[in-house]
Amino acid sequence: MAVDLAPSPALADLARRTATFIREVVIPVEERHRGVVRSEDVRRHLQQAAKQAGIFAPHVAREYGGLGLDMLGRAAVFEEAGYSLLGPLALNIAAPDEGNMHLLEAVATGEQKERYLRPLAAGEVRSCFAMTEPAPGAGSDPGALTTCATRVDGGWRIDGRKWFITGADGAGFAICMARTSGQQGEAGGATMFLVDAGNPGMKTVRHIDTLDESLYGGHVELAFDNCVVGEDAVLGQVDQGFRHAQVRLGPARMTHCMRWLGIARRAQDIAVARAAERRLFGSRLGELGMVQQMIADNEIDIAASRGLILRACWELDRKESASQSTAIAKTFCAEAIWRVVDRAVQICGALGISGDVLLSRYLREVRPFRIYDGPSETHRWAIARRVMRRHDAGAAQ
Ligand SMILES: Cc1cc2nc3c(=O)[nH]c(=O)nc-3n(C[C@H](O)[C@H](O)[C@H](O)COP(=O)(O)OP(=O)(O)OC[C@H]3O[C@@H](n4cnc5c(N)ncnc54)[C@H](O)[C@@H]3O)c2cc1C
Repeated sequence: MAVDLAPSPALADLARRTATFIREVVIPVEERHRGVVRSEDVRRHLQQAAKQAGIFAPHVAREYGGLGLDMLGRAAVFEEAGYSLLGPLALNIAAPDEGNMHLLEAVATGEQKERYLRPLAAGEVRSCFAMTEPAPGAGSDPGALTTCATRVDGGWRIDGRKWFITGADGAGFAICMARTSGQQGEAGGATMFLVDAGNPGMKTVRHIDTLDESLYGGHVELAFDNCVVGEDAVLGQVDQGFRHAQVRLGPARMTHCMRWLGIARRAQDIAVARAAERRLFGSRLGELGMVQQMIADNEIDIAASRGLILRACWELDRKESASQSTAIAKTFCAEAIWRVVDRAVQICGALGISGDVLLSRYLREVRPFRIYDGPSETHRWAIARRVMRRHDAGAAQ
């Protein structure tokens, strides 16, 4: 089947305008803050500028103030936004808000969309997605979910502990995954709940000190302790939380890849600029064979990552499950993006690990991507299981 992945003229124009906005407006702010922003004033300033540039919330339906891009459209624009660590924040396409908007659009009731999606899409509030738990709870294996929700008069009571919840500090609400039936170890019986900030039963335990720092609102440990919510807090259907999570997971994996691919390109541009000007052993750095190899390998990793993202997005846009193609793309991109940034550091020598360029910041930011949205090992395990099933199904015919 012929697959046309060329962007339409309108999409190409949006991607171009995004690239210009990132270079002219966002990168100066990124450089001033060394890639890490913790100020609401800066967040609002960047988002206001993105609104004025007509590139804000491009993934959200027009009805909720966005530009209504499908996954292939997002691939073109998010990569450009990801060229700066602050680009996704500016366009309101940063994790976890972007994935949460996607989930709310797909699963929430009309009333929930007005209450949660509309202000989130406008950048008026932020959000978080609370799934992972300290051991022995949910991590790579969601079935290990221990946080539970029990019925009380007029609603539900949630009890449990979550950690590594990105953006929780200052979020207007959390989407919390809790067990509503079944036992720990079973892959069913979870429900998603919308929990408002200020609910006395949801408390911040601590900010977790991590290698990466650029995701706005940090990574937080949360305690749900006698956290009572109304019936209207159920997002989607009771006991269908894992199924609803799939709506978020596949696309969210790809949008992470798109954004980090932008940083990989930025790292390569920094390294190539250095290789073009630095002279060693009588020639330019970029003309020495082993450096040429690193430059070429970076180009190959960037191009291959983009190709895998587009393939997976094409399937998602066709409403296919895309579980195999998103797992393949996520695993490859997380590792390839790390390799690109690591090689860029190497090409730049001591400069690469200094604070004079942002490469060392990028290196710290991309490393955790091999762990969140499914560690590489979990994806490889799932990819191999599907291949074995395919083989077994073929052998049985
Ligand atoms: C920066 C960052 C941000 C995050 N943000 C969020 C968030 O906003 N919300 C949220 O809910 N969670 C978040 N997480 C948590 C993330 O989703 C989990 O870390 C991830 O699912 C892995 O779970 P775990 O850390 O418990 O590792 P574990 O489940 O304990 O796994 C440990 C290791 O086991 C190996 N492994 C896993 N599966 C297999 C297998 N099948 N075969 C062999 N080896 C395997 C892998 O090497 C893996 O790294 C975040 C994590 C990080 C690092």
